Amino acid sequence: MVKPKYPKTLLEFVAQFNSDEACLEYLLEHRWPDGFACPKCKNKSGWWLPKYKRHECSKCHRQTSLLTGTIMHRSHLPIRLWFWSAYLISTHTPGISALQLQRQLGIKNSETAWFLLHRLRQGMVAPNRSLLSGIVEADETHIGGPSKTKKGRGVSQDENKVLIAGAVEVVEYETKSGELRQRAGRLRLEILKSADEVNIKKFLNENVEKKSVVKSDGWRGYSKYALEGYKHNRTVQVLIEGEKKYAPHIHRAFGNLKTWLNGTHHGVNPKYLQSYLNEYVFRYNRREHPMAAFSTLLGIVSQGKPLTLRNLVEP
Ligand SMILES: [Zn+2]
Repeated sequence: MVKPKYPKTLLEFVAQFNSDEACLEYLLEHRWPDGFACPKCKNKSGWWLPKYKRHECSKCHRQTSLLTGTIMHRSHLPIRLWFWSAYLISTHTPGISALQLQRQLGIKNSETAWFLLHRLRQGMVAPNRSLLSGIVEADETHIGGPSKTKKGRGVSQDENKVLIAGAVEVVEYETKSGELRQRAGRLRLEILKSADEVNIKKFLNENVEKKSVVKSDGWRGYSKYALEGYKHNRTVQVLIEGEKKYAPHIHRAFGNLKTWLNGTHHGVNPKYLQSYLNEYVFRYNRREHPMAAFSTLLGIVSQGKPLTLRNLVEP
């Protein structure tokens, strides 16, 4: 399998995807990595129809669109615009607003920028994502609302305040000098109806593999019932200044999430919060693989050896 070359910086990205044709080349490499094969008759020869971005089979004359299955299917926007938007969204750590996207890409119409962002966000929930495993820190926090109140999970009646549950993997690794350290792995965030044992159990079961070690604080929602099938480690502490931080990973994730929501989006309507949580999780979990995030957003599947436009034109 030959891996297509991935741009590592914005400059490389701009150089590689400087035209719609270059973007099409890239799509071809991913779409038909082993060379074109007609989905109807399996014939391997044919020709490329640039105007329609389709490949026509030389035997049965069936036309196959290069964009089918991708987010660009049936879109009239330039492919380059999709590529650049997806790149900015997947690599820009604090995320990007429709207004920023519009400004940075010089998009005339604000509705176009909003549409692009909205469509790309839809690709941020992977349907068959695998569960968190190993050591997992779990906790809840409130998003929104006027000011910080004391920890009173499940008792908040403020309609602008939303309770969310979070879980993050704790990955242990060894430094070059042989020191054992921890870093955050994958993250999950979900709106929670209340922090009772029923809802906590549901959140854990949907996001964390059984037999994992779940680290939580002493909240009663983490009951025997909620933690059935898990190993429980009650060491996550409420952060009190000056005290040792037992669960830095989930608290840091919550903190960064809030900064992002307030900074980039100036607060979020509770109605749309889950989709923002999805975006945050999507980028967080792919922070070391921006090009994988990019491909996922565009709906491009990568496998096998690449095919180029030239191969298609000269079968
Ligand atoms: Zn055919």
